Amino acid sequence: MRPGRSLPLALCSGAFRVRHRTSALHHAAASQRCFSQTTFRAADFTHAVIGGGVVGLAIARSLAQRSNSSGSGSSSPSSLSTSSSTLLLERHPAVGTETSSRNSEVIHAGIYYGASSLKTALCIQGKALLYHYCAAHAIPHRRTGKWIVAQTDAQRAALQAVHDFCTREIHVPVRWVGAEEAARREPAVRADKGILESPTTGIVDSHSLMMSLLGQFEDAGGTVALGSRVEAITPLGGDGSSGWELAVRDLASGEVSTVTAETIINSAGLGAVDIHNMIVPPERRREMFYAKGNYFSYGASSPKVGTLVYPAPEPGHGGLGTHLTLDMGGRIKFGPDVEWVNSPDDLAVNESRLAQTVREVKKYLPGLDETQLQPDYAGIRPKLSKQGAVAHGKGFVDFIIQKEEGYQGWVNLLNIESPGLTSSLAIAEKVRKLLYG
Ligand SMILES: Cc1cc2nc3c(=O)[nH]c(=O)nc-3n(C[C@H](O)[C@H](O)[C@H](O)COP(=O)(O)OP(=O)(O)OC[C@H]3O[C@@H](n4cnc5c(N)ncnc54)[C@H](O)[C@@H]3O)c2cc1C
Repeated sequence: MRPGRSLPLALCSGAFRVRHRTSALHHAAASQRCFSQTTFRAADFTHAVIGGGVVGLAIARSLAQRSNSSGSGSSSPSSLSTSSSTLLLERHPAVGTETSSRNSEVIHAGIYYGASSLKTALCIQGKALLYHYCAAHAIPHRRTGKWIVAQTDAQRAALQAVHDFCTREIHVPVRWVGAEEAARREPAVRADKGILESPTTGIVDSHSLMMSLLGQFEDAGGTVALGSRVEAITPLGGDGSSGWELAVRDLASGEVSTVTAETIINSAGLGAVDIHNMIVPPERRREMFYAKGNYFSYGASSPKVGTLVYPAPEPGHGGLGTHLTLDMGGRIKFGPDVEWVNSPDDLAVNESRLAQTVREVKKYLPGLDETQLQPDYAGIRPKLSKQGAVAHGKGFVDFIIQKEEGYQGWVNLLNIESPGLTSSLAIAEKVRKLLYG
């Protein structure tokens, strides 16, 4: 991680102090700025973004760059302030250590979700923005393409539905792969009833992406407060019309103090419902459910596969099925399955899931050497409904990205599950538009 302005929020009594470690390499001593606890007109920051995952980083970068490019005369959401500044609050000592670094790192094409869903719109837009960003900033990525494989007539029908949806409704390229081509390109892959290819699907090094976003945020003047957990939020003026006060615990010292901001953006991933519930009255509180996905890495060099392989989508499924994905080094991993757990901290790979994973994978990769599978890592999907489907079917819940009714200056992001990585830059655009039009 860049040294940049990454800092713990060190808070002094009656005032908020940010310790700027602009660069340990270039500055012998850290400078310090103190802010008094204030009313809205002199809020410490224009924007406080809660959560330093890929989505919070993309939002923070976008808001800081906007501030930077529009200068000190930029209009604030309230038009009451004349300058603009952005604080990113992250509870861990580093950004991107939760779901954003525990996923498949797939740049999704946007082919699974309803035509009018936010997931479809933001995934398609985000995919284009992400490929462009990766090329412009030398982020490792690859357009691997993806095969969705059918073994039964029902699965073939599911592929046909995806094909028709893509070609007729959302205009995302897909093509059928014939048996001869399949045997030539991926002889190890079995697909008895057909293969639908998504050529715009790819993979990205999510860690490099996040480090790049962080660097751009800092270069645009943004402030990162690491080891800073938001524990309480007060809408000033009753509804945020006078700004927001956040109580933040510094993990190193254990101290709690406050910071004020004109606007808050809740991008806290698995902690987003907790943040939501800190603000709303009891009748508007929500519950979060946790769907863990276990991954297993593959140590053998055979069978060799160079394309991502997914099973046909199943309506109502909490994930996209146990798929074969590749990292930038060409190493194969399998996952994620769907295991409902009770805690967002339940991140150990459940090894008892191995047998089921082997069964699922052998359907499309019969030559799999199961002795070469190792528990790798797990990630947790932040679900708003128990059994909530990730793509379509019963229980589908879309991304929620909205200004909350009855409040001013609060953009709330809930259910940012897959394809949140792909959509991150488009989500940032949406948040900026919600605040500034
Ligand atoms: C198994 C799995 C596979 C996936 N595969 C893909 C894929 O291939 N492609 C794709 O596009 N998407 C995928 N996703 C989805 C994608 O990973 C997420 O949508 C994305 O990472 C969400 O980013 P985020 O910033 O919203 O959340 P997070 O990465 O969870 O970041 C939220 C941050 O908020 C911080 N935080 C929480 N509470 C507080 C608090 N009170 N105070 C301060 N900080 C706080 C956390 O520490 C965390 O760092 C997958 C998800 C899972 C679980």
